[in-house]
Amino acid sequence: MKRFKMLIDGVAVGSARGKVATIKNPVNQEPVAEVSLGGREDAALALGAAERAFPGWARTDPKKRGDLLHRAAGLVGERAEEIALLLTMEQGKPLRYARREVTGSAEALDYYAEEGKRNFGEVVSSPSSRTRSLVIRQPLGVAAIISPWNYPVDLLAWKLAPALAAGCTVVAKPSSGAPLAVTAFVEAVNDAGFPAGVINLVHGTGGEVGAELVESPISRKVSFTGNTQTGKEIMERSAKFVKRLSLELGGHSPAIICEDANIEAAAESCVQRAFSNMGQICISINRIYVHDTIAEEFADELVKNTERLRIGDGLDHDVDLGPMFSEAQRKKTKDHIADALARGAAVLCGGSEPEGEKYRKGFFFLPTVLDKMDHSMRMMREETFGPVAPMMRFSTDEEALRLANDSRYGLAAYVFTEDMTTAFRFAERLEAGSVGVNTTSPIIPGAPFGGWKESGLGRERSRSALYEYMEEKHIRLGLGRRS
Ligand code: NAD
Repeated sequence: MKRFKMLIDGVAVGSARGKVATIKNPVNQEPVAEVSLGGREDAALALGAAERAFPGWARTDPKKRGDLLHRAAGLVGERAEEIALLLTMEQGKPLRYARREVTGSAEALDYYAEEGKRNFGEVVSSPSSRTRSLVIRQPLGVAAIISPWNYPVDLLAWKLAPALAAGCTVVAKPSSGAPLAVTAFVEAVNDAGFPAGVINLVHGTGGEVGAELVESPISRKVSFTGNTQTGKEIMERSAKFVKRLSLELGGHSPAIICEDANIEAAAESCVQRAFSNMGQICISINRIYVHDTIAEEFADELVKNTERLRIGDGLDHDVDLGPMFSEAQRKKTKDHIADALARGAAVLCGGSEPEGEKYRKGFFFLPTVLDKMDHSMRMMREETFGPVAPMMRFSTDEEALRLANDSRYGLAAYVFTEDMTTAFRFAERLEAGSVGVNTTSPIIPGAPFGGWKESGLGRERSRSALYEYMEEKHIRLGLGRRS
């Protein structure tokens, strides 16, 4: 069986303790490959390599850094099929979505290859004619990147690319549950010719490798995507060295379907966002608030679209949904549904595992639509991270807004209306980092993405992410007397 290694100081290596883990396919529990499982000592070696490589990389011309990133994007493109296959086999998502994730990750490299050249500073008006003030931005040092299993390549790429473009060196730790596609991706990037130590990849658990990356004084920045509880722990432990933090945490996104919404389009869009990747996406729709005058019609459309989704092995070409990532994810989904049903919710479709031999060994679950939800239910407050679309009815816009904002999360929110005034009223008052009006695809490369409230700190994508890896410096110049 193929063994995937780590990348430390430009060399593919096994772990110091020789530990290896087997990665299994969530569709049938069969082994896909092995991966070297590092510990604190491997993370420390990688941090040391990144620290040594930093001064040279920070001084490298942005144009040269950009050329390497473009070359890396090309290599990822050439190897996209191989990377996508690994992604489907370790994570479960259908191959066509895995391909999209990999090409989107190559786009991150191309995007920051260019954006890295646009590191603008400022000239600030000075209080004295004898001084001038410049503000410049410089790479902040070694960046630790910690990412989860749901979009393992995409989430790592959109951190790695701006960090490298900014002039930081990197130690990345993907989820130990889905490390294979990421390894192939990082290998392709590194093959573009980055100097040894600029990009390091260490596999292992959050408790060991993750902890070392956060607790070491070498990393000046931790860029983390994962659940809110882990993010809070990282925040606490980063306090010791006052580290810079980017935290992309959990979400609990509402979708509001107004009385005048295009019901067919809204239902189609909600189904796409509630069930893609089996609901295992931070911007998934977790609560649908629908105006009571259109609730029946909307519910019918929602169920019709949901029942059309084809479930199976992600390697089969006609499949829309694969298995869930793990039994733990599936169990949490079942628990949330059971809690909702016990408190008066109704199942409109799904609600159980699909029947049939081909589903027996995988973590499959039927996409589920629930009605008669209210905020006493766990699902309306906690992130399910599963394929469920729960519906609740409202009668006034003010009520919908109050319900939508009644959450400790604030990552994304959606509103469906044909009226411009209503659209702006909601878009401006919803407490979320991204708002989709008549769309549930709120992420594009050039716009900042990140959470309000307990959904996180800092921004990814756009120029904002480049500056997340830089420190500002004010330079004050004293001029001669005759200036
Ligand atoms: P997780 O927090 O369990 O793990 C994420 C990463 O952190 C993994 O690599 C893990 O090994 C590491 N880790 C765990 N404990 C750690 C510790 N104590 N110190 C350092 N590192 C540690 O999250 P998950 O279950 O893998 O991912 C699902 C979560 O991620 C969901 O809550 C989801 O909403 C969130 N997410 C957020 C975004 C976003 O952009 N906001 C995107 C995707 C996923």
